[in-house]
Amino acid sequence: MNTAYIGIGSNQHNPKYHVIRGIREINHLPKIDIQKKSSLYETPPLGPQNQPNFINAVIKITTSYQPIELLAILQSIERKHHRKRVKKWGPRTLDLDILIYDDIVLDSDILKIPHPEIINRDFVLIPLLEITGYNFRMPKFGKLIQYV
Ligand code: ADP
Ligand code: MG
Repeated sequence: MNTAYIGIGSNQHNPKYHVIRGIREINHLPKIDIQKKSSLYETPPLGPQNQPNFINAVIKITTSYQPIELLAILQSIERKHHRKRVKKWGPRTLDLDILIYDDIVLDSDILKIPHPEIINRDFVLIPLLEITGYNFRMPKFGKLIQYV
């Protein structure tokens, strides 16, 4: 069994609903078990400011899906929420990102693991650290993310 962390975000049409429904849909998948859920955080948008605030969360899962299968299954859930890819950093009904998958490091166009922006985005880091604890060792970055 593999362990992964998924970042969840929404800022359209009742974002809290999309995040909670998204988590529930992930939990219903046969090859995924949710181990931990962060709190939901309301965060200001990245990039264009003329869009609603986001609701963000991170979940920890165990799964027998391989990374690329996991990406495809998460994208099918995004599509169910009628997510349209309109513009970079623009509004979205549901965004599901693979943040970390075991200690795998992947750098292809369709899938980068760990997600390269984790370290730059407090709306990802804070919920991630909430569920991992501050001693969490981030794959690839190789640094201890902790208070000393
Ligand atoms: P973002 O999440 O960066 O705002 P999108 O959700 O629109 O942008 O994703 C764009 C593309 O990013 C997807 O089509 C997917 O192939 C690619 N991608 C690369 N790495 C990842 C990852 N770790 N998790 C999810 N998508 C990823
Ligand atoms: Mg995404």
